[in-house]
Amino acid sequence: MEVLFLGLDGQKAIFVIDVSHLSQNQLEDQLLAQFETAAQVREFRTCLPLLTSRDASILAYGKALSYWHVHHQYCGFCGHKSCAYDGGHMRKCQNESCHRESFPRTDPAVIMLVEYQPENGPAKCLLAQHHRIGSQVVSTLAGFVDPGESLEEAVSREVLEEAGIEVNDVTYMASQPWAFPSSMMVGFFATTKNPELNIDHDEIADAHWFTAEEIRKFDNWGDDGDNFQIPRQESIARYLIDHWLESQP
Ligand SMILES: [Zn+2]
Repeated sequence: MEVLFLGLDGQKAIFVIDVSHLSQNQLEDQLLAQFETAAQVREFRTCLPLLTSRDASILAYGKALSYWHVHHQYCGFCGHKSCAYDGGHMRKCQNESCHRESFPRTDPAVIMLVEYQPENGPAKCLLAQHHRIGSQVVSTLAGFVDPGESLEEAVSREVLEEAGIEVNDVTYMASQPWAFPSSMMVGFFATTKNPELNIDHDEIADAHWFTAEEIRKFDNWGDDGDNFQIPRQESIARYLIDHWLESQP
């Protein structure tokens, strides 16, 4: 079992241990036996709304670092076993003729809210239904950045690929580390002059233009009922949508 050192929180050292090989029951039994604590173990992602942003970011850091170690047990150059060094912030190949070092990586992804302002009437924003989440949830478009591509180019390409829309202005808004498993979500605002959609249904289930008035009537993630839902409160997609709604009459 590898123990990873995350850092100091004041005088308190914080470590992370991967326990993903244990079942929920095994973990709860072990906590009871070792610490005499009757605890309920829950998946981190489902607990996000219950955590302070500070605790969430420490846990996200631990989860991302732990994921990297679990998936980088062998050297990517020669295939020999690698081991953790520097408290878990580096891995080194154990083959004496190699000794390559590798470091935790982050995969950049872009996420963007696209606006269309018709000549008459209110502005609209493009929200999509995604295959991986329930069809009631409408969210911004997103995708991974290709090698050799700028973030702005990735925004333009993703919107064109998924919705058939050409965007004009691409403006940085905010970013969010997303430890599921190891992404950095970089949020943008973009505009288009041509709202005609040409959806790639392999990429997304569907997409529509919505006015602020329509979105304000949507439900929240996880609500009951058949209405459209907007993304989780703590997500950057929701931040982009809320920010846009604030700018609208
Ligand atoms: Zn090696």
